[in-house]
Amino acid sequence: MSLLEVSDVRKYFPIKSGVFFRREVGRVHAVDGVSLSVEAGETLGVVGESGCGKSTLARCMTGLYEVTSGKITFDGDMRRDVQMVFQDPYGSLNPRRRIGSIIADPLVIHREGTAASRRERVKELMALVGLNPEHYNRFPAEFSGGQRQRVGIARALALNPRLVVCDEPVSALDVSIQAQVVNLLKDLQTELGLTYVFIAHDLSVVRYVSDRVAVMYLGKIVEIAPGEELYERPRHPYTAALLSAASVADPDRPRDRVVLRGDVPSPISPPRACRFHPRCPKAQERCTVEEPLLLGDGHQWACHFPVEPGEHLRSAEPGLEGRAG
Ligand code: SF4
Repeated sequence: MSLLEVSDVRKYFPIKSGVFFRREVGRVHAVDGVSLSVEAGETLGVVGESGCGKSTLARCMTGLYEVTSGKITFDGDMRRDVQMVFQDPYGSLNPRRRIGSIIADPLVIHREGTAASRRERVKELMALVGLNPEHYNRFPAEFSGGQRQRVGIARALALNPRLVVCDEPVSALDVSIQAQVVNLLKDLQTELGLTYVFIAHDLSVVRYVSDRVAVMYLGKIVEIAPGEELYERPRHPYTAALLSAASVADPDRPRDRVVLRGDVPSPISPPRACRFHPRCPKAQERCTVEEPLLLGDGHQWACHFPVEPGEHLRSAEPGLEGRAG
């Protein structure tokens, strides 16, 4: 059995209006039928543009959000064994609380040990993530962004979790600090045998840390594959376009930049059938009436007309109009 199984999970957020906001006038389809599994010891990267639903999926995986439908199964005690590292090392730490007490939160909530043993554990965790244990009584404002993210990582590790869901853990940090935090996460994975779900919009960071990568678009997974396979042979036109725009393009074999038409459509009324069809350079009539399923073995993609190996994908031209569903 996989460590974590996500089966046809949907998470919709109601949009309310009227007197006292009682009337539901629509729904944001943040996550819309996602299935995937996470194997023990691996890092599954999840990439996509902002608003694609990857952070909502992360919160569903950790139990922070109740799912609207579908099922999440974890091989263990989800409350203890699944922890989260948040994006914003500034906003996720209470500025009026001391670092030691912040890191100890999960131990206090789960009634672990005595005050003295918790203090020892916190100092051990601080050393583990490269913080000076003598700074136990300092406040968040006395730390740099990178150090604050180390505090967030120490807090996530307090209960010896098996799965850590990292939601854009380095995107708020200076580029010079990002590598340090990413390398710390990799070292901790080796040392502690952790499993990661690593959410990010930066494809090069995801490539560096992930064994497998899932690409999300408008609430759905459109492609999932082992990291190198996905970066070398993307089959979904959206993945190919993302890669063409990213710095991960191999300098020896530069990809022409594929320019997508328009913005990401609203998740309130996503295009019907293939959600990518209004922007897709390969869209045909079938894409507007029949939803492509995520198919394949090992390398899966959801597309009727996938990119063929060696195919030169062109930028989208005006053509098929988006059809809201
Ligand atoms: Fe493009 Fe059609 Fe594939 Fe969707 S199904 S990604 S519109 S080619």
